[in-house]
Amino acid sequence: MENSHHFQEVPNAKHNCLLFDVDDTLYPLSSGLSAQVAKNIEEYMVEKLGIEAAKVPELCYSLYKVYGTTMAGLRAIGYDFDYNDFHGFVHGRLQYDLLKPDPVLKGILQSLPIRKVVFTNADDGHAARVLHRLGLVDCFEKIISFDTLNSPNNVNPSDDKDGTESRPIFDFYEYICNPDSDMVLPKTPVICKPFEGAFEKVFKIADIDPRRTLFFDDSIRNLLTAKRLGLHTVAVGTSVRATGVDHALESIHNIKEAFPELWEADEKHGIAKYKVAIETVA
Ligand SMILES: [Mg+2]
Repeated sequence: MENSHHFQEVPNAKHNCLLFDVDDTLYPLSSGLSAQVAKNIEEYMVEKLGIEAAKVPELCYSLYKVYGTTMAGLRAIGYDFDYNDFHGFVHGRLQYDLLKPDPVLKGILQSLPIRKVVFTNADDGHAARVLHRLGLVDCFEKIISFDTLNSPNNVNPSDDKDGTESRPIFDFYEYICNPDSDMVLPKTPVICKPFEGAFEKVFKIADIDPRRTLFFDDSIRNLLTAKRLGLHTVAVGTSVRATGVDHALESIHNIKEAFPELWEADEKHGIAKYKVAIETVA
């Protein structure tokens, strides 16, 4: 199946790869799926990790801000849990039927004569279920997910040699309350957006030249890292172009209007049959 995604290189084309986030990028935030994810993460923190419910919303948000994802933050401050257990809890109860098949987007993606790669902080299972619901399973050459960038954490995750002692939990709540203190924040073992290391790994895995790649994501901080690394950046889900981001699309469906040149290069070289429809006014 991968061969069907290999496109002949167009020598002078500006872009030879399109890199897409999944959640709130390939489908709109208004679907409500991301709100369910956020709620489930909070429930995991209370039910599985025993964190005081009153502290959870603030902790959840601040860990996300500092560590890229709440899960990366929870691991940093000392909670040891199986990644699959976390993902199963957070994604396992999602109402995927909130997402509807999107044949318009499928048509757009399939007509683009450029390689397309997915880069998501979610796990393989979630990415697959979302793409399946949207009807976009065959539209991408590669799916790079949490599981691609991180080793499983299902052995004894403790840092201790004999696995009998566990690390004390770093008091992140105390840090939030006193952000100017001298506390040195612990590092996370998780590799994820928006950090440069995650992008650099993706470039290697998918053989991506950032200077010739358009990156679509709904998260401004992901886009800012991407921009620093040389990618051309497109904010999705907003018509307002934030400082430091190259383009903004209200909806991913607007790719064709915003970037007609992605098809033009192909037309000149006659590689694919697709023609941009030209409307004529009588
Ligand atoms: Mg997203």
